[in-house]
Amino acid sequence: MLELDEALDRVTGSLAPLNSEEAPLHDLPRRILAEPLVASLDLPVADNSSMDGYAVRADDLKGARPENPIPLQMLGVVPAGEVPQMTVLPGTCVRVFTGSFLPVGADAVLMQEETEADGDLVRCLDPVTPWENIRFRGEDVKAGTRLLESGEWLRARHLGLIAATGRAQVRVSRRPRVGILATGHELQEAGQALAPGAIFESNRVVMAELVRQVGGIPTVYPLVEDTMEATTRALGQAIDENDAVVTTGGVSVGDYDLVRPAIETLGGRIEFWRVRLRPGKPFVFARFDEKPLFGLPGNPVSAVTTFMIMVRPGLLKLQGARSLEAKVRWCRLKESVSNSGDRPHFFRVRIDEHEGLSSAGLQGSHALQSLSQADGWLRVDPKQTLDPGALASIMVWDD
Ligand code: AMP
Ligand code: MG
Repeated sequence: MLELDEALDRVTGSLAPLNSEEAPLHDLPRRILAEPLVASLDLPVADNSSMDGYAVRADDLKGARPENPIPLQMLGVVPAGEVPQMTVLPGTCVRVFTGSFLPVGADAVLMQEETEADGDLVRCLDPVTPWENIRFRGEDVKAGTRLLESGEWLRARHLGLIAATGRAQVRVSRRPRVGILATGHELQEAGQALAPGAIFESNRVVMAELVRQVGGIPTVYPLVEDTMEATTRALGQAIDENDAVVTTGGVSVGDYDLVRPAIETLGGRIEFWRVRLRPGKPFVFARFDEKPLFGLPGNPVSAVTTFMIMVRPGLLKLQGARSLEAKVRWCRLKESVSNSGDRPHFFRVRIDEHEGLSSAGLQGSHALQSLSQADGWLRVDPKQTLDPGALASIMVWDD
C-alpha cells in the first residue's frame, strides 16, 4: 500500500501538460494560462477624472468656501470617450465626467456637488488639493509589466484585467476531455422504479461536475456491467475517445472487481493500486501511454474524496497549472476528533460562520447526506487526536 504523499507525487510526476490553444475571453474561466500575460498599454490609458465635476487649476480655488464662492469660466465639456481639445487657463474650468480625459492645464477635478452652475459661470464652493479626483495614466498597470504568469488558473477576477489590456484571446492549455464510467451490476439509472436488488447510480454526475470545476470536459458513458467483456469494451472506448478516464467501482478485491484486469487486458500500465487513505484505499492509477486512468472506489464518498485528493491535481497538471494544491480554509475545532486507524482519515466537516469546525454527520464512505452538508475535509493522521480549539487547515470544494 502506497503512502498518500508518494501516490500523489507519482500521479502529478507522471503527467505532462497537454498542448495549448488560443481561447476567446468568454472561454477563459477555470482554464490555465499557457503564456505570461504582458501589458501592451498603460492603464488607465490617460490621466482622467474619477468624479463628475469640473477640471480646474487647484491654485485658482484657494480660499473657496460656500460663503465665498470663486467663479470660473467654463470653456466646454469633455464627455468620456472624447479627447479634450481645450486648455484650462487661470480662471477657467472644463466640465468633465467620470472617466473623462483630463484637459491640458488642469491639475484637479472639483466635484459637481461642490459647485453651483450658472450658464457658463461655475461658482466653486470648496478648494481642491492638486491632483485631487484624478486617476493617473499607468497608475494601475504599466505597459510591459507581466500581469499574470503562465500556469495561472484563470477566474472571474482575472478576466477584466485581460479584457482591459485589449486582448480578445489568450493562449491557454487545452481542456482535458475526461471520460466518466461507473461499474456495477447493481447500478440503475434514475427515472424508473428501482428494480429489486438495485440502487440508483450516483457517482457519474458528481464526477462530471468535479471535472468541469477543474476546467475539463466530461463525457459520461453508459453504466458498465461487472463482466470482463463489458468492462474491457467500455474502458477501451473511453481511453480512445478522451485524454483521461475516471472510473468508479470495481477496483477492490471482490470477484466482480474487474477494472484492474481490464486495464491489463487493454495493455494499460498499472502505476499503483491502493493508497494509505481513508476513505478511498482501493484507488488505481494507470496509464495508457500518456493518458491517465483514475480508478476510483465505488462508495460515493470515497469516489469524491479520492477525486479531490488525487484526480483534481492530476487534471490540473495535465493543463500545466502552477499550483496543484487543494483550496484550504483555516478553522478551529469545536469538538475533538481522533484517528485510531493506520491510514490518514479525511473526515467530512462543516464550517460555521465563525470558522468553527464540526463533523458533517455520519462518516461512512456511503453517507451521501453528510457529504452534501460538508464544507470540506479535515485530515487526521494515524494515532492523531485533535482537541477542541485546535487550528486545522480544511480542504474545501472548488465550487
Ligand atoms: P465497489 O467499489 O464496486 O465494490 O462498490 C462499493 C460500494 O459502492 C457498493 O456498495 C456499491 O454498490 C457502491 N457503488 C459503486 N458504484 C456506485 C455508483 N456509481 N453509484 C452509487 N453507488 C455505487
Ligand atoms: Mg462494484
